[in-house]
Amino acid sequence: MRVLICGGGVIGASIAYFLSRRGVEATVIERTGLACAASGKSGGFLASNWCDGTPLAPLARRSFVLHARLAEEIDDDWNYRPLTTYSGSMGLRRHSAGPGLNWLSAGVSVDQRLGSAETTAQVHPAKFTAAMMRGAQARGSELRLGRVTGVMRRGPRVAGVEVDGKTIAGDAVVVAMGPWSILATQWLPLPAVYGLKGHSLVFDTEAKVPAEALFLEVREAGGQVQTPEVFPRSDGTTYVCAISSESPLPVDPAAVYPDPGAIERLEQMCSEMSPVLAASKILARQACYRPVTRDGLPLIGRVPGVEGAYVATGHSVWGILNAPATGEAMAELIADSSAYSVDLSPFDPGRSPPFDPARLQKS
Ligand SMILES: Cc1cc2nc3c(=O)[nH]c(=O)nc-3n(C[C@H](O)[C@H](O)[C@H](O)COP(=O)(O)OP(=O)(O)OC[C@H]3O[C@@H](n4cnc5c(N)ncnc54)[C@H](O)[C@@H]3O)c2cc1C
Repeated sequence: MRVLICGGGVIGASIAYFLSRRGVEATVIERTGLACAASGKSGGFLASNWCDGTPLAPLARRSFVLHARLAEEIDDDWNYRPLTTYSGSMGLRRHSAGPGLNWLSAGVSVDQRLGSAETTAQVHPAKFTAAMMRGAQARGSELRLGRVTGVMRRGPRVAGVEVDGKTIAGDAVVVAMGPWSILATQWLPLPAVYGLKGHSLVFDTEAKVPAEALFLEVREAGGQVQTPEVFPRSDGTTYVCAISSESPLPVDPAAVYPDPGAIERLEQMCSEMSPVLAASKILARQACYRPVTRDGLPLIGRVPGVEGAYVATGHSVWGILNAPATGEAMAELIADSSAYSVDLSPFDPGRSPPFDPARLQKS
């Protein structure tokens, strides 16, 4: 069986990895570069119980366990580590920082512990995606650079994909193109997927920031309230993201740039938040789009009406967390015809009507 996976983000790479563990050959086709989009530019924060009370809970809990297990099992390093997580604010109320958070400015108040090393953890998302892909390649899977431009069918079944005008034959096709999965509505009856933009900075903070994640509420000079997320990593960098926008998704993943002024605002916020950040070199100034669906739940499963067609996308703010359990369940579905590690029914792609591709704007 040959499975063609369209998109080399964390979801595509994780599906390839779990398929390869079952001896199934997978080819990941990536347009721009492995983890070039949100999977390389996101926070990589993981939480076991933050999706409790929602249909995502079993997926998230299973995935949190798998993250820890993969870090033990695979001889590779993607900066996985459990860590404590706090919430706080700046410019809203005034207290001094609590113990252990003295790297923050005096104006930052830390008021609640949101998670412990048992319930929250992190990975470097680009390194994790690359490790999943390497793990798949070590078992015979393949990564190809190329732009998927269509899905070929033979009768009611998929027969392969078109990549830059050439056909690659396959028995199953998985759409895992993150927010660009909307383009696949031209080839398959899929619900809409949208992209929501976020901005981030990566600082070279060395060992000056403790292993504590922070979710803050910050009032900017202009009065707007932002919710920056701060993730110090074990590789001596600190990642900060904030400032979402609804800027349209460019068709080309290589053409994603920060909104005008957003990076300057984020730099200002970080300088006010901590003298350590103010003095540290900035290694990356970046933007990316997280894939979202109309009802907020991912699309994971069979594409209705087309045999051998699957989709896995729309993971929104939890794509890094939920990648392993998505990969595992998709591999079961493709190889064994049903997913048993997690119930995928809440994520059934058939729950929403297909998007009309005539509504796609060319840009
Ligand atoms: C600012 C920010 C912070 C985040 N922080 C976290 C976090 O802390 N924890 C967490 O769990 N999640 C986080 N997320 C969410 C997470 O990053 C995403 O849900 C996840 O990366 C989505 O992965 P994906 O593989 O579905 O899509 P993507 O990473 O977008 O990958 C899709 C891939 O498809 C490729 N592609 C597109 N078109 C084609 C084509 N025609 N042919 C071939 N390939 C194509 C693209 O080049 C891209 O590499 C964050 C998101 C953002 C924006």
